[in-house]
Amino acid sequence: MPCYHCGARQTDPGKGPSPWKRGVIKDEQVLVCPDCQSAHDWLADLDRCESCGSTMLVRSLGETRCRECSFTKTVVHASRTGDMSLADEVAAALRRRFEG
Ligand SMILES: [Zn+2]
Ligand SMILES: [Zn+2]
Repeated sequence: MPCYHCGARQTDPGKGPSPWKRGVIKDEQVLVCPDCQSAHDWLADLDRCESCGSTMLVRSLGETRCRECSFTKTVVHASRTGDMSLADEVAAALRRRFEG
């Protein structure tokens, strides 16, 4: 998955934790490259938890979950429900996960 802001591709992750940050924007999981983390106010772009306001959100299988307070919002993308069944949506999400 490329950087949501500049489109850069994540290079060889190598050892240790990745410098790339994860977040959720418009209920889509996104990655932020190290360059954009310093050059752009990316936290301002992120979705916030409806319960506690944290940006520590994770997307999984149609849900946006807060890592701070565990508040969970179920979101099915309207743009996709027209031509994809829920099973297709889940399959696509799994494919994306395996592709990294
Ligand atoms: Zn970037
Ligand atoms: Zn929260």
